This record gives sequence, C-alpha cells and structure tokens, in this order.
Amino acid sequence: MPNCGTISAVMTTEDGPQVAEATLRPVLADAVAQARSAAEELGRTTVGEHLGVRAEPDSVGAAATHRFAAALPGYRGWEWSVVVAAAPDAESATVSEVVLLPGPDALVSPVWLPWEERVRAGDLGPGDLLPPPADDPRLVPGYLVSDDPAVQDVARDVGLGRRQVLSREGRLDAAQRWFDGPRGPLADVAVAVSLQCGTCGFYLPLAGSLRAAFGVCGNEFADDGQVVHVEHGCGAHSDTVVAEMAATPVSALVHDDSQLDVVVTGPASPDPDPDPEAQGAAGEPIGIDEVDEPVPAE
Ligand code: SF4
Repeated sequence: MPNCGTISAVMTTEDGPQVAEATLRPVLADAVAQARSAAEELGRTTVGEHLGVRAEPDSVGAAATHRFAAALPGYRGWEWSVVVAAAPDAESATVSEVVLLPGPDALVSPVWLPWEERVRAGDLGPGDLLPPPADDPRLVPGYLVSDDPAVQDVARDVGLGRRQVLSREGRLDAAQRWFDGPRGPLADVAVAVSLQCGTCGFYLPLAGSLRAAFGVCGNEFADDGQVVHVEHGCGAHSDTVVAEMAATPVSALVHDDSQLDVVVTGPASPDPDPDPEAQGAAGEPIGIDEVDEPVPAE
C-alpha cells in the first residue's frame, strides 16, 4: 500500500505566510511503477526497492516524490528520487524529474572547503608563504589609529610606521588564544605552582597594549622564547627555593644508660691488705644492685 497523508507547507500570500496542506493524492501515490520505470530508463540499470513516497510541500497536492534504493556500484546508500505530478483533475501522473541523491546512510565526501580556508594553525612549514587574505579583519593600515598607544607614540615620533599593524580585533584574538593555550593561567603547569610569571625574573613584558597581560619567558629551562600570560607559572620561577634536607632523616641522639651490662673478668688478685668492709667474698664480682631510672631522650 502506498503511503497516503498530508503535510503542511508554508506559502506566502498577500495576507502574509499561510499554512497549506500538501495532500498525497492517490493518483500520485499509486504511480510507483511509472516512477520506477523512469528511474530505470535514466540510470540504465535495475532500480532497487521502493523506499516511500511523500507529497511535495510546495506543490499543494500537485506533486509527490517516490524514492527507490539505487543498486549502483559505488553508490551505497544513495536513492533515486522521482518526482511525479498531476493536475487537480488529472487521472494519471506524469514524471517531472529523476535525480540520484544521497540517502541518510550514504557515503559522501566532506563538505567542500574553499582553498583559502584549508590552512590551519601549525600547517606553515619552512619556506612556505602565507599572505594574509584581502581585507583581513586582523590587520589595519598602520597610518590609521591603531588603538595601540605604543604604536601611536612611535609613529608620531619618527613619522614612520609599519604598513599594517594588528587591529583591535587581531590583538583580542591573539590574546584569547594565548590565554587559553598551554602558557595561559589555566594550564596544568601553572595551576600546580604558587609563583607566577609576573613576579619572575625571567619574565620580559611585551610592549603595547598587551603588556599588562603577556610577556616572553627568557628561561632556557622553561618556556624560553614563548609568550606567557602574566599569571602563568612554572617550577623554574626565579624565586623558587628548595629546602635543603639530609638525604636520610636523623633522629635526636639518645644516651640510654638505663641498663648496664655486667662483665665477669675472673678472680681478683690477692689484696695484701684486704678490707672486708670494702670488698665482698673473694672471687665474687662486685654486684650492682641499683639501676638508674631511665633518662628521657632530649
Ligand atoms: S621561568 Fe617559568 S615562571 Fe619564569 S617566566 Fe618562564 S615560565 Fe614564567
């Protein structure tokens, strides 16, 4: 059974936009064989299954499009679209148009990009030339007010200037890129440190209106020669101090005299004038019957 129904179409009349119903009339819906024959004749090949029919929104019921799968090598997902039309009182349809169109799953080439828009940041190599496009909004003639006080001062002083200078838009673009980039304040390396470029001895501020926010790093062990944001930072900041510590922690020395070892050295030599008060029985070691209280470590 053919698909029948209505869809809405917006038509502009003297009274303004009007919504008209586009009706899929049976005479158009039933013209499947006629539409298939037209596609086969144009494509000189067998046409695939019938995928559906819908009323043309702008035709107010006078036209409909039949879709067939295209069984063509190299055209996977493409469809034959056959437009059939019939006047209000007509009893048969006529074929108006046959085209091959990509379906929703068709393999198609990417959207065409003009040549001048294909170069991306990082594409420029040694020896490549990349002139700015005409009327590049990033550039303005140098003799106009540049909105950059440093450029204005120099141009006034010497009466010379570059032929073009960065416009306000160009400078804002650059500043945003640098801010968002790997040398901005939100980069991982900057978030991990407490010292920022603005207080670093290796920081060389830019001239002009970007001076307040950007400078060049002059530290060969860090972002040497790169533009860094004033709130960027790294572990090579000139004020970085590393606390000197012994490789192995040393505890406080403890003198523990709470225990004394008793060493037996053998029989004592005969004392020519033994004093029984001062010595114990012969051959007995002098005992130590008092033990000091443990001395707490200092
Ligand atoms: S050494 Fe580190 S903190 Fe100092 S300017 Fe360079 S990137 Fe910034």
